[in-house]
Amino acid sequence: MWRVLNFFRRRAVSVTQQQVIEALKRVRSPRGVALPDAGVLSPITANDGKVFFSINVEASEARAWEDTRAKAEAAVRAIPGVTMAMIALTAERKAGAAAPPQRQGGVQPVAAHRPHQHQHPADSPMSKQAAIPGIAAVIAVASGKGGVGKSTTAINLALGLRDLGLKVGLLDADIYGPSVPRLTGLQEKPQLTPEKKMIPLSRFGLAIMSIGFLVDEDSALVWRGPMVMSAINQMLRDVAWGTLDVLVVDMPPGTGDAQLTLAQNVPLKGAVIVSTPQDLSLIDARRGLAMFRKVNVPVLGIIENMSYFQCPQCGTRSDIFGHGGARHEAERLGVPFLGEIPLHMDIRSTSDAGNPVVESEPNGPHAAIYRTIASSVRDQLKGAIAAA
Ligand code: ADP
Repeated sequence: MWRVLNFFRRRAVSVTQQQVIEALKRVRSPRGVALPDAGVLSPITANDGKVFFSINVEASEARAWEDTRAKAEAAVRAIPGVTMAMIALTAERKAGAAAPPQRQGGVQPVAAHRPHQHQHPADSPMSKQAAIPGIAAVIAVASGKGGVGKSTTAINLALGLRDLGLKVGLLDADIYGPSVPRLTGLQEKPQLTPEKKMIPLSRFGLAIMSIGFLVDEDSALVWRGPMVMSAINQMLRDVAWGTLDVLVVDMPPGTGDAQLTLAQNVPLKGAVIVSTPQDLSLIDARRGLAMFRKVNVPVLGIIENMSYFQCPQCGTRSDIFGHGGARHEAERLGVPFLGEIPLHMDIRSTSDAGNPVVESEPNGPHAAIYRTIASSVRDQLKGAIAAA
């Protein structure tokens, strides 16, 4: 069930943490203790009618707690003024305990919203990686740090894939700073199907979903790691994506626990890493590469963004950042180099005006670069797309 439904139904009224705690006093832990006294709650975020927190329990007890989690969520949703309640069940690995295979983060969501997935045993690393019906391939666009042009690249890559005749979706999973509303000019709230699934917004022939359509940027910024995964799981699986060849996921920047959890929980067919030529950024890109390798997600390649400066007046090219680093790095690391995108005013201005360059200048040189990158990505995904 989509737990943010009430967001669309009720008007936001201020809800306090104290109100949430009062409501939770009526919910019992599996051992019969009132929830606020059970010592399992994370700090509660109550912001503009939206309530987020997690219940941290030992992994071995997680199943027993699912019922409590659901009751806690129902109790919070019943508070007048609550427009959205997102409560994640998370398991904290005990200090000194051996890490389960493939799980490097200290805190992992444990089937918080998918208690009835029976495809895999609950403790299998694949338990949350069930394919999404109707979507042939989910790919991530990632970067080692923010500000390298990851979101700009993600949307133009999605548009390039569309131009190749594919049915494409874009999921803005950068919940720390969702940029898809800016990149598309979309502001409206998604509608619901009769089955209570969210209908992605449609723009440029893409099916688009962003946490930015649901919450303001301010509340997105305070989200904690485990909640990130809960929110993204909902945007992946409780959205009526329809039939897609490729869903492009714009990842949160960085290679921390939240990103790692995401990389291992989303059924990714591959990842694209965006880097700028500066050395620091390349170091970050290497971390991104290592992260995806750790969770067995194939890296489809590296894109060098802001690779060289192209003068908008005379077209002269200047390699102001010592361009070419990403290509060498890709060769050294044995991953495909997907292409170089110049630092150009048109790329910035079109993106920031909500009309990305592949859409607004389809016959221009930049669109051609993105389409070349898209075809290389498409070629690597051909097997998955054909199989679907
Ligand atoms: P990230 O998602 O990595 O934080 P964004 O895609 O939001 O980065 O880009 C950051 C800023 O840089 C935006 O203003 C965007 O328009 C601009 N930008 C991104 N790529 C280019 C480029 N190749 N040329 C010019 N500006 C760019």
